[in-house]
Amino acid sequence: MPDDLVVQINPSRVAMIGTDAKPCRCVSLQGEIGKDVACTIYANRSSPCREFEASWEGGMHNPSCDAARAAYGLPPLTPPGANEPHWPDDGAEVA
Ligand code: SF4
Repeated sequence: MPDDLVVQINPSRVAMIGTDAKPCRCVSLQGEIGKDVACTIYANRSSPCREFEASWEGGMHNPSCDAARAAYGLPPLTPPGANEPHWPDDGAEVA
């Protein structure tokens, strides 16, 4: 991780510049949030970045993902298929 992209947060840890601000905006995030963004150091991103999953990626909800989106006025992500039409008797057994 290049030194010019991080800030020392304690004697043994650093954080990406901008991630300690409210709302958080990492110095390596390029683009317009909610439209088209990309990480400019994606291949070399830190382990916390690698471990963070968007909600429903891998089937799991991530409340931290919701909070990050809400900070920029974006709604939570929905599970795959949540917006597809369904009938009230979906799943009912037919005799
Ligand atoms: S994935 Fe990239 S843009 Fe996002 S927080 Fe990590 S370094 Fe910053």
